[in-house]
Amino acid sequence: MQKIQNFINGSLVPPEGVAYLNNTNPATGQVYSLIPDSDHRDIELAINAADAAFPVWANTPVAERADILLNFAKLILENLDALAEAESVDNGKPVALAKSVDIPRAADNFKFFAHAIVNFSSEAHPTETRAINYTLRTPLGVVACISPWNLPLYLFTWKIAPALAAGNCVVGKPSEVTPMTAFLLSELAQQAGIPKGVLNIVHGTGPKIGSALTCHEKISAISFTGGTLTGAEIARTAAPLFKKLSLELGGKNPNIIFADCNYDEMLATTLRSSFSNQGQICLCGSRIFIEKSLYSKFKNDFVEAANKLVVGDPQSENSNLGAIVSEAHLHKIQSYIQLAREEGGTILTGGNRVNLDGQCKDGWFMEPTVIDGLPPSCRTNQEEIFGPVVTLIPFENEKEVLKQANSTKYGLSATIWTENLTRAHRMANKIQAGIIWVNCWMLRDLRTPFGGTKSSGVGREGGLEALRFFTEPKNVCVKL
Ligand code: NDP
Repeated sequence: MQKIQNFINGSLVPPEGVAYLNNTNPATGQVYSLIPDSDHRDIELAINAADAAFPVWANTPVAERADILLNFAKLILENLDALAEAESVDNGKPVALAKSVDIPRAADNFKFFAHAIVNFSSEAHPTETRAINYTLRTPLGVVACISPWNLPLYLFTWKIAPALAAGNCVVGKPSEVTPMTAFLLSELAQQAGIPKGVLNIVHGTGPKIGSALTCHEKISAISFTGGTLTGAEIARTAAPLFKKLSLELGGKNPNIIFADCNYDEMLATTLRSSFSNQGQICLCGSRIFIEKSLYSKFKNDFVEAANKLVVGDPQSENSNLGAIVSEAHLHKIQSYIQLAREEGGTILTGGNRVNLDGQCKDGWFMEPTVIDGLPPSCRTNQEEIFGPVVTLIPFENEKEVLKQANSTKYGLSATIWTENLTRAHRMANKIQAGIIWVNCWMLRDLRTPFGGTKSSGVGREGGLEALRFFTEPKNVCVKL
């Protein structure tokens, strides 16, 4: 059975404790590889390697750093099929999705930050004729990049690319649930020509190595994407140590549909924003608000469209939905469907586990599920489920829907469907979220700030925001 290894100081190495965890294929329920159950000793080795590499990497010309990032992008694209296949097996997502979204985006992340860093500049402030101020932006040192399981390589590279571009050395911790593509990336790192110690990838559990990483004195910044509770724990650890912190956390995103929308486009996109990646995208619109006059038409058409989605073997190009990432997560989703029933909701379609035949007979599959009849304030409509489950909520007018959309503790993203531009701008201004889509969803421009408000996070990633996060500004004032 394949044994994943840590990537420390330029070499693939076993964990110091020589202990391994099972890595399961969610579509078959079978263990198919072993992952290091690393501990604080492996973290210590990785941080020391990164610390030793930092002075040279920080002073490596920007163009050389950019070239290495471009090598990563090229190697990822050359290995697109193998990486997509690995992502699909590890995570359960349809291989077609991994091929068209996850892996190309991982390459784009490297390409984007390779170009961004050569165009990055800092400010100058002339103080009349008395002085000139200029701001130096220097890399931070050794930074931690911790990523979740839903978009494994996509989100891991979204962190490490800007960190490396800005001249930092990285200790990365991918999710223990989906380690495979990060491992394959460490093999590519050797070919990309990244100097020893500049990028280190340590595998293992959050409580063991995630926390060893976040409390380490040599870590100067933490970029974390994951659940809100984990984010709160990391913030508690990092705040008294004065580490820079970027937290991208959970969401309960409203998808607001007005009767004057472009109906066909809205319906097709809403199907995607509800069920892509089995609903396991932080940006999925899990609360669908529909203007009353459109409610029954939308309900019928949406349920009919959801019924046509194929839940199947992720390896099949015909599957619209693959497997849920783990048995534990499947149980969590099922418990929320039970809760929705107890709260008085009506399951319009779905609600059940799907049992497939053949190699997927023991896999963890779930029907796309649509629920209505629940008030916006109930737990089902307030808590993040992170699965193929959406609720439908009718609304009377703009004021009412705005209040309901803003009623959760989250504030990651929102979608607005209307042909009335004035209303779209008005709503966009008032919705409490870091990312608003008008008449679209997941249309991404990597230059834009990305992140959430309230319990959805602190700080922004993307474009210059990421390069600013991964650098320390220092003002120099020169008297004229
Ligand atoms: P978790 O918070 O469980 O885990 C995220 C990462 O943190 C994993 O690598 C995990 O390790 C690690 N971790 C766990 N505990 C600690 C700790 N004490 N210290 C340091 N690291 C730790 O999230 P999930 O992996 O379950 O991901 C799903 C969540 O991510 C959802 O809430 C989703 O909304 C959110 N998310 C947010 C996005 C955004 O941009 N805002 C984007 C994508 C997802 P391990 O798993 O190995 O134990």
